[in-house]
Amino acid sequence: MEKKFYLVPELNKMSQEEIRKYQEKKLTRQLKYCYTTSEFYRQKFDEAGAKPEDIQTINDLRKLPIFMVKDDERKSAQDSLKKYDHPFGLHLCAPVEEIYLTGTTSGTTGTPTFSYTFTKGDIDFIGRQLGHRLSLAGIGKGDRVVFFFALGIYATTMTLWGLRELGALPIDIDARSGTDLLLQFIELTRPTYLACTPSLAEFLIEKTPQVLNKDVGDFKLKGVLTTGEIGIAIPEIKKKLESAYGCRVYDYWSPCGNAMGISCDSEEYHGLHAVAPDVCTSYDDLVDPITKKSVDSDDDGAIGEMVHTSLEREACPAVKYAYGDVVQIFTKECPSCGFKGKRAKLIGRADDMLIIKGVNVYPTAIKDIVAAFTPDVTGEMRIVLDAPPPRVVPPVRVKIEHGKEIGQGDLPGLSKRISAALHDKIKIRPEIVFVKPGELPKETRKTPIFEKKYE
Ligand SMILES: [Zn+2]
Repeated sequence: MEKKFYLVPELNKMSQEEIRKYQEKKLTRQLKYCYTTSEFYRQKFDEAGAKPEDIQTINDLRKLPIFMVKDDERKSAQDSLKKYDHPFGLHLCAPVEEIYLTGTTSGTTGTPTFSYTFTKGDIDFIGRQLGHRLSLAGIGKGDRVVFFFALGIYATTMTLWGLRELGALPIDIDARSGTDLLLQFIELTRPTYLACTPSLAEFLIEKTPQVLNKDVGDFKLKGVLTTGEIGIAIPEIKKKLESAYGCRVYDYWSPCGNAMGISCDSEEYHGLHAVAPDVCTSYDDLVDPITKKSVDSDDDGAIGEMVHTSLEREACPAVKYAYGDVVQIFTKECPSCGFKGKRAKLIGRADDMLIIKGVNVYPTAIKDIVAAFTPDVTGEMRIVLDAPPPRVVPPVRVKIEHGKEIGQGDLPGLSKRISAALHDKIKIRPEIVFVKPGELPKETRKTPIFEKKYE
């Protein structure tokens, strides 16, 4: 039987070229809508010397300049507060009284913006898409999903709509309530799936025996869903989680309701599969994170910052929004599940990028290489920064938790081996400082990659 990767039945019968035509048909319509309904977008088109009807293809779209980065969104929100007494920005395209749901990111950097703002129509459309995507991880009617994230007005909350669309029951508890309470709820509700950040999933492996006197494997989950940070893209983390929980761990993602993707049921990680090309063009539009010049995303292995343009959105459609996520794109058929569309691996945030001796280095690349030394290391590490990124005066300092079985006498040799691997793979010569296992604080939300020594 052919797999139904896409929600809309006709898409499952289309070739990738036909899918692109389908996207392009929606694209011009969405852009016209944005131009007519939002003064922000009208101004951006005018500044670019373009009209929505000039943009008929994805290639035309790639030629448009970036319309928005995070700071523009903040400014747009301030302007709409001043002018119209609401925080949704001058890029809001629907009447403000039509807003049905709003959500913001966890606000780790700067003033939060309400990037996840939807009308009823939006959430009906996106909820079905989110649900379909989670069904690819096997979730369906009757599944109980413990859902541990920062809840309330936060972005992850919208995934609950997807779960309900499937007839699954979310058991949503704010991750900030503390791990003891989270574990108690697992014990009380007997879920079939767990959804949380990869670092929390990792942390629960240690905590469960202490709190419940059993192992996470005893939960007999059908699957674990992770999002919010780079986790199972690192092979050692995927292996560690899957062997502890005794089930498949999936990675899912949809920044601002765009770029919807999920990893597949495979031993090896093959990236976020772009299973909702009818939602946005995010996988088809990349730029260099520094120069913001277009990078060819049809090129297998291309690395760039993703640029979001929504295809069917009423409240806050993204148009040429560079949200800061740097990805690597794969265009070949997935060797495991046969998915023919694009796949993306998250590399890092554009503002996390380091420049060491003129070379672009993503912290995750360092983490990836260090984690490969598990069990000689725990996989937990920090990059110590003395000054704001991106420029780092070498040597870059890396703090690494050594493994439980490693003695003081083993450290110089381990340090040499890790340094050699880092030099070999990404051409950096680090200064390594070892700390004891468990010494680096773990967070129930996002675990930071940097230790900042500057104000
Ligand atoms: Zn696959």
